[in-house]
Amino acid sequence: MTKQITVRNPRTGRADYEITALDAAAVGEVAGRLRAAQPSWAARPVEQRIAVLAAFKEAVTRRRAELVRLLEDDTGRHQVSVIEVDAVLSGVDRASSFAAEVFAPADLVATGDPSVRTTGDLVAYPVVAAISPWNFPLQLALIDAVPALLAGCAVILKPSEMTPRFIPALRACIAEAADLAEVFTVVEGDGATGAAMIEAADAVCFTGSVGTGRAVARAAAERFIPAFLELGGKDPAVVTASADLDSTASAVLWGSTVNSGHACMSIERVYVDRRVADEFVETLAAKAEKVRLALPGPTDGEIGPIITEAQVAILREQLEDAVARGAKIRTGGEIELVGGGSYLRPTVLTGVDHSMRLMREETFGPIIPVMAYDDAEEAVALANDTEFGLSAAVFAGTAEEALPIAHRIDAGGVSVNDVCLTGMVPEAEKNSFKMSGLGGSRMGPPSVRRFLRRRALLVRNASGPRPWYYDTAE
Ligand code: NAD
Repeated sequence: MTKQITVRNPRTGRADYEITALDAAAVGEVAGRLRAAQPSWAARPVEQRIAVLAAFKEAVTRRRAELVRLLEDDTGRHQVSVIEVDAVLSGVDRASSFAAEVFAPADLVATGDPSVRTTGDLVAYPVVAAISPWNFPLQLALIDAVPALLAGCAVILKPSEMTPRFIPALRACIAEAADLAEVFTVVEGDGATGAAMIEAADAVCFTGSVGTGRAVARAAAERFIPAFLELGGKDPAVVTASADLDSTASAVLWGSTVNSGHACMSIERVYVDRRVADEFVETLAAKAEKVRLALPGPTDGEIGPIITEAQVAILREQLEDAVARGAKIRTGGEIELVGGGSYLRPTVLTGVDHSMRLMREETFGPIIPVMAYDDAEEAVALANDTEFGLSAAVFAGTAEEALPIAHRIDAGGVSVNDVCLTGMVPEAEKNSFKMSGLGGSRMGPPSVRRFLRRRALLVRNASGPRPWYYDTAE
C-alpha cells in the first residue's frame, strides 16, 4: 500500500506539501524495469553515458533557478541552495572525467606464469539503490547516483521525506536527458521505502545517520550486497599557537555554521593551544556576533532555520546538558522561534569537556564548543576521543607543523589551514573511519570504480605448457 506523507516547511512550521511513499511492491516494479533496461546501458561505450549525463547537466542548468527555489522551500535557505545546484553541475563533469579514466582500455599483461597473460572486464552492479538525507537534499541525492550511472548501473534514488519538494524538477531534468529515464528513477518515500529498495537492489549507497546506517548495513549483509555508507561526524579542529588566529576564527566559524551547521563535515569541536585560547575565543565570538539569521526571507542573512523539529530538540538538549555540566555560553545559545521556524545564532561555548553530550554526540547545528589543550599530544588525544572519524581540520603557522598532527588524526580526511576541504575537492580520495561509514571512496576515480566488479580474464597461450596434474595423453 502506498501512503501519503505530509512535509513540514522549515520556515513556517506548517505542513504544506505531500508525497506518496512507494511500498515494497511498487519499489519492486521500479527495480524490475530498471533491471531490464540496465544491460544495454552498461553495454554502451562510456563516452555515450558521459554524453547522456552531459545532457542531464544541461537540463539542470536550464532549471537552475527552479531547483534553487524548490530547495529554498525544502530547507529555508537561499545561498547554500545556489551553491548546492552549482556543486551538482561541476560534480557531473568531475565524475565524467573519473569514469573516462576508469574505463580506459586495458591490454593483456604478463603474469608470473610466462604462458599466461591477463586483463579484466568491469561489470557494473545492475541496480543501485541510493538513499539520501535532508541536509543537502539535491547534492547528496546525486553524489552517488551520477557515478553509479556513469559506471553503467541503473539507479533507484530516494531523497529524504523531510526535503522532497525538488523531486518533480529533478525528474523533469532526467526526462530531458535522452534515455536517462530508462535507467534512473527517483521515488518518494520514507524509511519503509528505503528498506524495500535494499531488498530489490544489487548495491546500496546510503548517506544518513549512524543508527539508520546500521540498519541498512544489516539488511545489505543479509543479501550479500555491498553497502556504501556515509554517516555522521563529530569533526574536530585543532588550532596551534602559531596559527593565524583571525583567519582561523573565520574558517572555524564558517565550517561550524554553514548550512545552519547541518553538514556532516562541519566542525563540531575546537581544540586550541591554551596560550592563545582566550584570544581565539574573543576573535571567534566577535565574528560570530556579526553573522545574521536568514530573516525575514531566505535571501537575507546567513543562518537559515533548523530544518527538522527533531534536530531542534537535539540542539536544545545538548546545550542544556553542557550548561548543566558547567559550560559557559560566550555568544548565542537561544533557540529563537520566528514565524513557525526555529533558528539558532552561531553559539560559542567555553568550559566544555568530554563528559558533555555536546562533545561526544553529533550536534548538526551552529554550535562551536572551544576547549584549551596544553600540548600536541593532548590535542591529538582529544581529537581522537570520539566514535566518529569522518574528517577534521588542523590550523598552524606552517604546513610542516600541521601535517604531523594531521597524520595522527583518526579520520578519513583532514583539511590543513582550512575547513571542509574534504567535501569540496572531489579529486581527494578518502574513506570514512570508525562509525562515520564504510566502503570505497566517494571521491576520485574510486567514486565510479566502486560500482564495478572486476572479472579477470586469464589467457593461456594455446601452445603453452600446462601444469595439469594428470597426464592423460596417449
Ligand atoms: P536518516 O538516517 O534519518 O535518514 C537518511 C535516509 O534514510 C532518509 O532518506 C530516510 O528516509 C532513509 N531511511 C530511514 N530508515 C531507513 C531504513 N530502515 N532503510 C533504508 N532507508 C532508511 O538521516 P538524516 O537525519 O536524513 O540525515 C542526517 C544524518 O546524515 C546526519 O547524521 C549526518 O551526519 C549524515 N550525513 C552524512 C553525510 C556524509 O557524507 N557522511 C552527508 C550528509 C549527512
